[in-house]
Amino acid sequence: MQKRSVLFHACRGGLAGAFLVALAACGLTHEPAAPGACGTTATNAAPAPGAASAATVTNAVAGSAMPPAAWQGTYEVNDVHVHVTNYVQEGITAHSLLEVMGNKVGRAVLFGIPLQQTWSYRISGDYGPTYYLHTDAPLYYYSFTDAVTAAQYRALPKEEQSRLDPMIIGFNPSDMYAADHIKRVLTTFPGVFSGIGEFTIHKEFVSSKIAGEAPSLRDPALDRLLDFAAEVGLVALMHNDITIPFSKDRPIPAYLSQMMDLLGRHPKTTLIWAHTGLGRVIQPVGDHLAIIESILADSKFSNVYFDISWDVVAKYVVSSPATIQATARLINRFPDRFLFGSDEVAPTSQEKLLAVYRQYAPLFAQLDPVASEKVRKKNYERLFDEARRRVRAWERTHVQ
Ligand SMILES: [Zn+2]
Repeated sequence: MQKRSVLFHACRGGLAGAFLVALAACGLTHEPAAPGACGTTATNAAPAPGAASAATVTNAVAGSAMPPAAWQGTYEVNDVHVHVTNYVQEGITAHSLLEVMGNKVGRAVLFGIPLQQTWSYRISGDYGPTYYLHTDAPLYYYSFTDAVTAAQYRALPKEEQSRLDPMIIGFNPSDMYAADHIKRVLTTFPGVFSGIGEFTIHKEFVSSKIAGEAPSLRDPALDRLLDFAAEVGLVALMHNDITIPFSKDRPIPAYLSQMMDLLGRHPKTTLIWAHTGLGRVIQPVGDHLAIIESILADSKFSNVYFDISWDVVAKYVVSSPATIQATARLINRFPDRFLFGSDEVAPTSQEKLLAVYRQYAPLFAQLDPVASEKVRKKNYERLFDEARRRVRAWERTHVQ
């Protein structure tokens, strides 16, 4: 314990200086479509310097199709957390994602972003915001995203479909009818989806902007949703900040006990806690690694996994030799419970898609070979192969 505590303080110290850098980098990751980047919604907005048009995005990822299965012998990693669209539902297609995956990323999830940023003319006039921090107008749940995902996936040849795991995201997790939406999507588009998410409960700056009620970990609607995921066999990828922003003085993360209660109520749901509960201002709190370790060591949470996605999280992990070592020690102890994800938004090049993977190189170097293989590839394949098998079986008995 002593050692872990010391290591953690090394992490916090490293953060202080690097925080503004992290914010800037995060902007790059989470604002791929700068104001004006998006063809139809931004026709009246002034393009930001360097912003690409929709046509540019399409061209940037166009290329010759890869021969069938050519990736199988060469891929380095699977990506459990990547978004193909931004907050105005624009970005790249499923086919374009496969182009940037190339022969380096074997498999990836397929989803956009469940929330749409409203363009309020009253608030921003001719400026069409493409990011949630660019306007005071609310966000709302955009259910059509699931139909777009299904249509794009179905248009792919079988070989390309085998590399993607589409996820249902267009639901409001504080609505008791959310589970019904998921059921309707599954029965309308059988043979497509493997999971739900990334959906969000608490997220800095985002949850409070959603029209209607903010989501809550204590909402029975969320319980109904996770029960249904367990019944069908859907993997659930959930974002929930472990605490509130700017809360360094709180010894216990604000949402930890609610989160533990939720996990305890759903032992049969395969749940991936995105970013290990961290965010751009949700910095590691208390002894973050020790909290994760206590969950992993508890047999009643054996259904809980963590993704290490987001360049912000990678910055925390690789901020010092001590933080790298502490994280590697934890992953080496629980190699079946962590998955790599990039959290890139609409990546238009393989370089962008792999940026976070490259950032993690010092961590992977300290994992034992079996653990490294599991975090990069095998855990994804185990969870999603099982999800595909179970969801297809559920569909066979529920689709007329
Ligand atoms: Zn997230």
